[in-house]
Amino acid sequence: MDKNVLRELARKYALQNAVFFGGRANAGAVIGKIIAENPGAKSSITEIQLVAREETEKINKLSSEEQRKTLSLIDPSMLEKKEKEQRKGLPELVNAVRGSVVTRFPPEPNGYPHLGHGKAAIIDEGYARMYDGKFILRFDDTNPVKEREEYYEAIQNGLEWLGIKPDKIKNTSDDMEKIYRYAEKLIDDDNVYVCFCKIEEMRKNRAEGRECDCRSADAKKTREKWKLMFSRFVPNEAVLRLKTNMQNVNTAVRDPTLFRIIEGSHPIQGKKYRVWPTYDFSVSIEDHIDGVTHSMRTKEYELRDELYFLLIKLLDLNKPELIEFSRLEMENAPLSKRKINPLIEQKLVSGWDDPRLPTLAGLRRRGILPEAIKEFILGLGVAKSEAVVQIEALESVNRKIIDPIANRYYFVVDPIRVEIKGAPDKITTDALLHPDKKKIKKYELDGNNLYVYIAAEDAKTLRKDDNVRLMHLFNIKITKIGEKYIEADYAGNDKTAKKLHWVPANSTRAKLHVFGPLFLDEEFNKNSLTVKEGFVEPYAADIKEGERVQFERMGYAILEDKKTMKFNMIHR
Ligand code: ATP
Ligand code: MG
Repeated sequence: MDKNVLRELARKYALQNAVFFGGRANAGAVIGKIIAENPGAKSSITEIQLVAREETEKINKLSSEEQRKTLSLIDPSMLEKKEKEQRKGLPELVNAVRGSVVTRFPPEPNGYPHLGHGKAAIIDEGYARMYDGKFILRFDDTNPVKEREEYYEAIQNGLEWLGIKPDKIKNTSDDMEKIYRYAEKLIDDDNVYVCFCKIEEMRKNRAEGRECDCRSADAKKTREKWKLMFSRFVPNEAVLRLKTNMQNVNTAVRDPTLFRIIEGSHPIQGKKYRVWPTYDFSVSIEDHIDGVTHSMRTKEYELRDELYFLLIKLLDLNKPELIEFSRLEMENAPLSKRKINPLIEQKLVSGWDDPRLPTLAGLRRRGILPEAIKEFILGLGVAKSEAVVQIEALESVNRKIIDPIANRYYFVVDPIRVEIKGAPDKITTDALLHPDKKKIKKYELDGNNLYVYIAAEDAKTLRKDDNVRLMHLFNIKITKIGEKYIEADYAGNDKTAKKLHWVPANSTRAKLHVFGPLFLDEEFNKNSLTVKEGFVEPYAADIKEGERVQFERMGYAILEDKKTMKFNMIHR
């Protein structure tokens, strides 16, 4: 590659990277961009690295303002994150016509949304936007016993937080009358029957490929019994089943149940209905009613594709493209309401928004940014292949975004008082609030009555006569080690000595919640939450609720409650 061309390219990408990531470009990202644009250039990788690093360094010296301005002169289109780029990982759809693609996300409001739902919704919405189409949030609320109003709201809040904006929000339960009409069509065409078999019997027949006697009723009889499902029959007494082939190799399509009786008050419909469709029946019809062109779901539904298309054929419905992607699975994190629910019921976690949970509400409290989730999910793509991902992968995306903006502070856990004698009368000390920002934290200390706090863990390593350096301050020589305090003498300046973190006497009490994996070897990890108490330096009073900061040597944290100065640890 021509040297000048390479330099231009590096400069351009460094500027863009800086503009997108809080004023600080990452050389690695710049190198990646150059190589992506010039796949043949790998041979000169060392040169690319060198130039990219040089340019990145130069660009990082500019103010955000200058970066933006310079980029706008070179290529203003680069100031905006390209739509395509945001959705990298989403391959083109088959039979997609710009302007007429319709996708939907169909959660059941029986729990709070988790990262897996985030994946589905991001992909569903991503495709609608990619083709200037329409995205529908459809509550698949056809089980009155499981749905709760709280969950409808939680799902909407979760999507809103992710920046996902449905063009339409609807409930399957609002279409019940229409769904019944389709059932009646199946009855008229003699494609269904009311079955009175006990569950075990039904299961056995299905396994053995045997038809039961209920199946022989004609359309007229079936219609009468169907009516009774709305009045006389009790739950589990009768279901409506589709007539298929009981010897079908795919057992999911051996006379599947389409309707069952469920009694209970529905959060939206109240007691209006007691005959409810199964997922398989309602999804085919709802996708038709909603004009869905591309229907997406996770791979575990694969065996039910046949039924989806069979119902479409029997009822003469629109036939969308069906796209399947892998279910998101994360090591030691339960990405399923079925697994999260028991943790809540047994009170092993504080609720659906416990920061240890991979629910959207939990991740939010944990300090993970919605942008990080989007970038992470789109980075995984829509591959069908299963892969268990590590939470660290999401954390690393999050870290990359917050590092340029998170101010640095000192937090001293289990503080031990260090009394210092012989220091100069007045000492001023300063440290940078952020390595890239010019703002400084400045403290004035009174040498005549001087004490500071260090962490118990650091104090443990000290011995009498040790000479150590208090960061950004001066050296001290340890003269006495008491149980709850330490005494030391001022010992001048020797920057080579071992460094200790400290906070001044007028520091603020604070709490830091630190989270570990919820499970270890499939068992609930009883030590998944640790609460550290200590002092944060006085400048921490400037931290706003919800702000993300970095505690030196510990990691990134978010201030959850300013009144009690309670922080949640985000990640290292
Ligand atoms: P859960 O086990 O959490 O109840 P579910 O599939 O029953 O999962 P739904 O509310 O029915 O939950 O899911 C709505 C949509 O979200 C479905 O299309 C489903 O495929 C998708 N989804 C759910 N969990 C995941 C996951 N872990 N990864 C990707 N997509 C998911
Ligand atoms: Mg479900």
